[in-house]
Amino acid sequence: MDCDYKLISTLPNGMFHLKCQRKGCGYETDSMYGPALTHTRCEKDSPRGLGDTVAKLAKILGIKQCGGCKKRQKLLNRLVSYEKVAKMLPVFIRRYFHN
Ligand SMILES: [Zn+2]
Repeated sequence: MDCDYKLISTLPNGMFHLKCQRKGCGYETDSMYGPALTHTRCEKDSPRGLGDTVAKLAKILGIKQCGGCKKRQKLLNRLVSYEKVAKMLPVFIRRYFHN
């Protein structure tokens, strides 16, 4: 399922700042396209990055998240984004086998 984006603001560079309205997601992103044309897999369904995976693990272990945890989860998601990894992986594999 894709994120259900709502337009938060229009940035000075003409891009749109969007936020997912779905409960349990709330993902924010900057997009060149409007809410209807921006598609990202919703955090409700699947992990977006390493932060979500850590959060899931913490939940399994019975560790409750505080506000700081949420912030770190978002940061970790940005640092290790699975979307970026998925985009980079084919490039990496091609380079790896042709050197
Ligand atoms: Zn979402």
